[in-house]
Amino acid sequence: MDITITKTTSPKAKPADETGLGFGKIFSDHMFIMEHDKGEGWHDARIVPFGDISLSPAAMVLHYGQEIFEGLKAYRTPDDTIRLFRPEENFKRLNVSARRSVIPEIPVEDSIQALNELIKTDVEWVPRTSGASLYIRPFIFAADPFIGVRPSDKYYYIIFTSPSGAYYSTGLNPVSIYVEENYVRAVKGGMGFIKAGGNYAASLIGQQEAHAKNYEQVLWLDGVERKYIEEVGAMNVFFVIDGCVVTPELSGSILPGITRMSVIELCRKWGLKVAERRLSADEVFAAYDNGKLSEIFGSGTAAVISPVGVLSRGERAIEINGGKIGEISQRLYDTLTGIQYGRIPDDMGWTRKVEI
Ligand SMILES: *Cc1c(COP(=O)(O)O)cnc(C)c1O
Repeated sequence: MDITITKTTSPKAKPADETGLGFGKIFSDHMFIMEHDKGEGWHDARIVPFGDISLSPAAMVLHYGQEIFEGLKAYRTPDDTIRLFRPEENFKRLNVSARRSVIPEIPVEDSIQALNELIKTDVEWVPRTSGASLYIRPFIFAADPFIGVRPSDKYYYIIFTSPSGAYYSTGLNPVSIYVEENYVRAVKGGMGFIKAGGNYAASLIGQQEAHAKNYEQVLWLDGVERKYIEEVGAMNVFFVIDGCVVTPELSGSILPGITRMSVIELCRKWGLKVAERRLSADEVFAAYDNGKLSEIFGSGTAAVISPVGVLSRGERAIEINGGKIGEISQRLYDTLTGIQYGRIPDDMGWTRKVEI
């Protein structure tokens, strides 16, 4: 793929204090753009200064939400190389999302090339502070100026990056969550298994209500029987019950997280029992009552591992592992971040060096 590069003539000042970066507020100097037109395919791959784009108010994405995205990170290692964590998996999943949303796919090698070129162009934007990283947001949306309902004839594929601070600035603090009984985020046959903006629109009200009740996240149940656990917030969820690491099976309404997959592979490598199966909220509370529930944690690119300290349902609230991070959660966090930041050898072959 040919990519033309136009560098900015007015580079922005890079944040001097990387500890105060926060998440998703600051953007690097450049972005990658490519367009798709009916009959022409993907064309005009280019890296240009990061900036606003112009769209017709009739652009289809604004009306019918035909949009998909990905989220991954680049890490600077102690020997000053830049590494990505399983990026092929993100771009394969982008194509799964594309198929479900009737968006044209992009060869995985082209996405990797585009991302490599973009990071190379903005390499100084990859943070140096421990725990900080360059968050990467690839996304595709329908841009056809037409308000009839059909798949769009025009799409944009954009990748931009955002230097972000450590997710945990004060150590891994366990979060409090509650079982959401009124809303569901997805149903089988719908879009729950892809990363689509619309899924987030559907989940915002749960997050808002959780915050209003002084909880950090919601535990989502399945949309049909409202019994089986699906995800926590926008993360996959794991339970350690009687020494076995249990996570909901990929049923069609759950997002197949790359962190989830990595957690399962690591646990199996360590000789732990792992089960991907249906798991009801009742079973989790019963396991707690029997003294068999030792850990709960979420998994996702942003937080990596997010321990759960309190789980509540209706009037009942239980404290998990005394409200402290569990042994398996801590080991997973240390191993995954160790591999990502090049502090420990990547014997799983998960990281990919960015060619600068
Ligand atoms: C992105 C996402 C996850 C986590 O996926 P990772 O690949 O591990 O980052 C989990 N659930 C939802 C709904 C998501 O959008």
